[in-house]
Amino acid sequence: MVALFARVAPPLPVEGLFTYAIPEALAEKVSPGVRLSVPFGRRRLAAMCVEVTSEPPPDGVTAKPIESLIDPEPLAGADLLALAEWVAKRTGCTWGEALEATLPAAIKKARPSRTIRQVRLTLEEDKVHSTVEELQKKRKEQARTLRILADRGGLMSQRDLRRLARVSASPLKSLAKAGLVAFESVEVIHDPLQLTDVTPTDPHELTKDQAFARDRVLKAFRAKKAETFLLHGVTGSGKTEVYLQILSEVVGQGRQGIVLVPEISLTPQTVQRFRERFDRVAVLHSSLTDAERAHQWRRIRDGDADVVVGARSAVFAPVPHLGAVILDEEHETTFKQQNVPRYHARDVAEKRGRLAKAVVIMGTATPSLEMERRASTGDVVRLSLPERVAGGIAPSVQVVDLMLEERRKGYTFLSDALRAAMEDTLAKEGQVLLFLNRRGWASVLLCRTCRTSLRCPHCDVSMTMHRRIQRVLCHYCGHEEPPPSTCPACSSALSPLSFGTEKVEDEVKKSFAGVTVARMDSDTMTGRGSYETVLSAYGRGDTDVLIGTQMIAKGLDHANTLLVGVICADSALFLPDYRATERTFQLLAQVVGRTGRGPRGGRVVVQAYNPRHFSIVAGMAQDHASFSAQELPTREEAGFPPYGRLLRVITQSKDALAARNRLDKIVEHLTAPEALDGVEILGPATAPIPRINRQHRFHVVCKCTGPDQDAGMEELLGRLGGKAGKSGVVRVLVDVDPVALL
Ligand code: ADP
Ligand code: ZN
Ligand code: ZN
Repeated sequence: MVALFARVAPPLPVEGLFTYAIPEALAEKVSPGVRLSVPFGRRRLAAMCVEVTSEPPPDGVTAKPIESLIDPEPLAGADLLALAEWVAKRTGCTWGEALEATLPAAIKKARPSRTIRQVRLTLEEDKVHSTVEELQKKRKEQARTLRILADRGGLMSQRDLRRLARVSASPLKSLAKAGLVAFESVEVIHDPLQLTDVTPTDPHELTKDQAFARDRVLKAFRAKKAETFLLHGVTGSGKTEVYLQILSEVVGQGRQGIVLVPEISLTPQTVQRFRERFDRVAVLHSSLTDAERAHQWRRIRDGDADVVVGARSAVFAPVPHLGAVILDEEHETTFKQQNVPRYHARDVAEKRGRLAKAVVIMGTATPSLEMERRASTGDVVRLSLPERVAGGIAPSVQVVDLMLEERRKGYTFLSDALRAAMEDTLAKEGQVLLFLNRRGWASVLLCRTCRTSLRCPHCDVSMTMHRRIQRVLCHYCGHEEPPPSTCPACSSALSPLSFGTEKVEDEVKKSFAGVTVARMDSDTMTGRGSYETVLSAYGRGDTDVLIGTQMIAKGLDHANTLLVGVICADSALFLPDYRATERTFQLLAQVVGRTGRGPRGGRVVVQAYNPRHFSIVAGMAQDHASFSAQELPTREEAGFPPYGRLLRVITQSKDALAARNRLDKIVEHLTAPEALDGVEILGPATAPIPRINRQHRFHVVCKCTGPDQDAGMEELLGRLGGKAGKSGVVRVLVDVDPVALL
């Protein structure tokens, strides 16, 4: 019998594949896609087998034998193995690292036990708050653990609780000893969808534009042609209905669909709409527990789900016969993963579509400039839905120059115009949305005597004051402390500089007596289901004024929203990032679209310091064509995406000099033996945020603008080869096609 070898991809930043001998006893069982336990240096590793071969390792090296087989059956089929290999090449990580990302954590655990240890809250609900406050003084970990458990309904697995609270077992034991929680072992069947009922709905008779879009996509699907489409239509133009009808044919043919949405926990209605049309829907997203995610993953792999709805990583869902991938809200930057592998779900979706001969549909009201350009050059097919299905009356838009307003009355967040519009709307029993993309009470506490501002001790950023919890927080590293009563430098008073949603809420409550006000941002949306609770209260008309960050920019479609107030439209415009303008336009266009839904129309009051900036003018008019026409030439001139591709390398370390020196060396590698044609190197430089979590940060940005940008990028990644990861005291991060440069 010929000796067999397995080539494995370790989940580490080490280049290349490694060859191990397959012991005879395992010969039948080892196949690509199973994980093997192998000796690796002085360690033992779980590494995925990507190939079984009779070819021994080169250079006469003797292959060490595999220690054991971890998975009885493959976790990844040939398609996902190939996809991960592509992701690795595209994002500059290793095949093994990319494979890691395709598998949910609980699946990687060798044999998931059927019983799990749960923690139950035994403290009465009305005592939770005071107990947490009390613990907060001395036992922060216990306080946090208790609060999370209570938020999640008072019962969860010990593992999930520890993961979310980031604690060891000991705070839990202390809580149990104090009689606040109890442990129990249970057997559970996890299905996050079980809880809510659905009433099936029938497909709508499509409008002409919708029918055209559906038929065009289905033509490609029937021809087994992997084509990419941009479904360009405002919210309410019936995009979701088109997805549903495409999927209905895909599923009818025995194939599956994957639907990717930006932040699924924010869009429970979307999941609901898919469940109303399809019996077998699976969901994958970050607020599932490990066990729930593993359960969904197995259903998908076993072919028990026809439609998978999920966030970014669901692009790797192991459906057996992929027919269509849909990416809704294509322009959202949350589709880009911010740690290894730093893939963009949009790219992966397209690649996966090509591998499976499946159609790919990207839907949005405001295409990213990348998609916009591809659609205008014919690289993808644009399908337009220019009108809302239900009609509606376009809102009237009024703009307020905050600079003039301030000159007149001093610093303010509610201009006279916005206040009058609110009074008028509330008198008519209409509802109001107030949008400000900044959370907390004040994002800077400033000493007006010595100009010191309160900064995070670990990062070079201001700390945000959160008044409700009486804490100042760092939004970058999570550091928190009680607010100082006076300036740390000179003991004068500290006062707020730039306000956030919490302050807006306070002011609205003060100025509008008897009005019901709610706030929606990541501070108030911590508990499971809190988003739904606030949304449905608003939907029932129980809330008069809803204040929020970008969370309220989507998903809220109520005819009774008669006024949208944008508190500061240009709050993000001057961030040192080439996408700041695009982001400003998109957010504004989205919020403006929250009104004008019904027969009563709607109005919008936009406050801004730069009311004439083209991103604001176009955003107010929801005029994507005009925005692109003005922004694209700027990008072209600068060689930024979509005209060039960027590679960003960051070094970070507690030792600033070491980080800087390492980056200098890397830049030498990138430019040696000679500078690449069509590649421009910007930097090295200190990163715009010079320090996060005590790590000093430096970066270099490489711009590929030559005729073959992909080749330029590959060459750069080749020159970088194996530099990513941590060595010594410096960590090197490689970000291909970064969505932010901060
Ligand atoms: P989008 O995804 O673009 O926001 P939706 O698909 O959610 O749009 O459609 C908006 C609303 O119009 C939904 O309530 C949907 O059920 C309804 N709708 C969509 N298409 C039609 C149609 N052809 N006829 C009647 N109602 C429709
Ligand atoms: Zn001071
Ligand atoms: Zn910090």
